[in-house]
Amino acid sequence: MRNLSFYKRFSNTFGEYPSLSRFLVVFAVSGGGLVAYSEANNIQTGAKIDDLPEAGSEKKRVVVLGTGWAGTSFLKNLKNPSYDIQVISPRNYFAFTPLLPSVTVGTVEARSVVEPIRNIVKKKNLNVNYWEAECYRIDAKNKKVYCRSNQEDKEEFVVDYDYLVVAMGARVNTFNTPGVEENCHYLKEVEDAQKIRRTVIDCFEKASLPTLSDDERKKILQFVVVGGGPTGVEFAAELHDFVSEDLVKLYPSVKDLVKITLLEATDHILNMFDKRITTFAEAKFHREGIDLRTGAMVVKVSDKEISTKVIKTGEISTIPYGMAVWSTGIATRPVVMDFMKQIGQANRRVLATDEWLRVEGTNSIYALGDCATINQRKVMEDISAIFQKADKDSSGTLTVKEFQEALDDICDRYPQVKLYLNNKQMSSLVDLLKESKGDVAKESIELNVEEFKSALSQVDSQMKNLPATAQVAAQQGSYLADCFNRMEECTKKPEGPLRFRESGRHRFRPFRYKHLGQFAPLGGEQTAAQLPGDWVSIGQSSQWLWYSVYASKQVSWRTRSLVVSDWMRRFIFGRDSSQI
Ligand code: FAD
Ligand code: MG
Repeated sequence: MRNLSFYKRFSNTFGEYPSLSRFLVVFAVSGGGLVAYSEANNIQTGAKIDDLPEAGSEKKRVVVLGTGWAGTSFLKNLKNPSYDIQVISPRNYFAFTPLLPSVTVGTVEARSVVEPIRNIVKKKNLNVNYWEAECYRIDAKNKKVYCRSNQEDKEEFVVDYDYLVVAMGARVNTFNTPGVEENCHYLKEVEDAQKIRRTVIDCFEKASLPTLSDDERKKILQFVVVGGGPTGVEFAAELHDFVSEDLVKLYPSVKDLVKITLLEATDHILNMFDKRITTFAEAKFHREGIDLRTGAMVVKVSDKEISTKVIKTGEISTIPYGMAVWSTGIATRPVVMDFMKQIGQANRRVLATDEWLRVEGTNSIYALGDCATINQRKVMEDISAIFQKADKDSSGTLTVKEFQEALDDICDRYPQVKLYLNNKQMSSLVDLLKESKGDVAKESIELNVEEFKSALSQVDSQMKNLPATAQVAAQQGSYLADCFNRMEECTKKPEGPLRFRESGRHRFRPFRYKHLGQFAPLGGEQTAAQLPGDWVSIGQSSQWLWYSVYASKQVSWRTRSLVVSDWMRRFIFGRDSSQI
């Protein structure tokens, strides 16, 4: 009886995959992040545009642009049935981007890292429509988004919203380098990874033809990776593994002609990581014969060669190549740029939101993930208002008691205060005041507004922009969903910090990013891990940590099982080098 109910529960969990249930339990050991499918099947998969509820209908209309990390996390965590949700994205699936470098060489198959968005949202007891289209214009004034179908006819339609969630990600940044768009591969989307995989094999087949000279073969087998960030480094490492573990056996005649070059404009690769990791990675690449060129900026790419400039000397040199992969960072999409102009953000490079992820200059548009950045309010902009609010007895001075009463709100509203205290190893703001007042007894500290300003004058130096990572995007998605889930409740009973410049409290607590650490896979079953508290680990043990974290972070049990079986297949049979 017990077993039966367990099995039934398990089958329900897997929705349409009950036959797989017993098989998949094997993979449960990877732990964490269980995202189960329920049987609720409320997605209106075939809804016509006419079926869209009118603006002003009882349910608030939420339009979500994008099905990447941020949009999907928002949708997955949204539980409140009082919204009509329209999801618009040219991609009808979610892609697990951290595994894209593995897809480029077939360590993992493309279909193992994607999950149809309709699968993800159908578990909800919510009204969700998905439209495969791209938004080409946001009209913030009239609360409309203009969309173009992804189909051949490119039919256009307009969708009204009450709330808009912009989660469109970013585009590749070429820094306007001539020839990049025409000649380089990107590594941003699943299609890019698939194209790279085909091209790598194509280069090997081409170089193996009997009609070529060795010089021509060398040129074809010269792989250039531009950008020494985590993606470029991981791709170079994966390619090196593919060549040394699989292709050398299959292409013995050309194996000695292969060369992988990694170009980085700054002095080191993996700049955002701890120095120990950078040093280890650079030494490993040198040992393995990966041609690492730092301080080299690409200035032009033609169909046959890449021109680089040595930054220190200005010397230009060229590298003939067979395949080049461009992975140097991201830039704002044109549709977002156009939107920024409408709302008075034309002079910015990235769309700015406040700490609640609301787009600055609008009141019902939210933006999250790579397409936006949080503009953290500076303490110094509000310092007089903070002083006045904290000075409850309006005496013109702040006592320690008054200070302590306002402290939680100050730290909630301005997280840089807490960061500053942590960095200075101070346990409380009182210590900071003591520092500015000299060695006086805690009880007798009293500050006027000027002394208060000087005590807090340095705190804003701690503000940092969040990185453009999946981790940030996913946390923002679930934060925003939580706000939407509790919109009514928090409107009645605000839970945020004091509004220092106005009266009352903020409706919600501001978004807080929790950094869980980051990985840099370096190939050869070696991964570098940098965990919170600057804990660094490099080697095989981190590789196993990487396997288990990435298995557990999969968006569904289906992809989790596919990814794990791909890894096992690779261990047993190696990677597939078929040109399909
Ligand atoms: P995306 O995930 O890019 O999603 C954007 C969505 O918007 C897509 O669905 C897209 O189709 C849609 N869209 C685009 N244009 C429009 C339009 N006009 N209208 C409507 N929808 C539109 N981060 C990590 O934390 N760890 C990693 O290991 C890691 N590895 C990475 C490896 C690679 C190869 C890449 C490319 C990125 C990696 N990242 C990693 C970064 C991470 O993928 C991004 O930070 C994350 O995808 C940002 O999420 P997002 O939702 O903002 O954008
Ligand atoms: Mg006072």
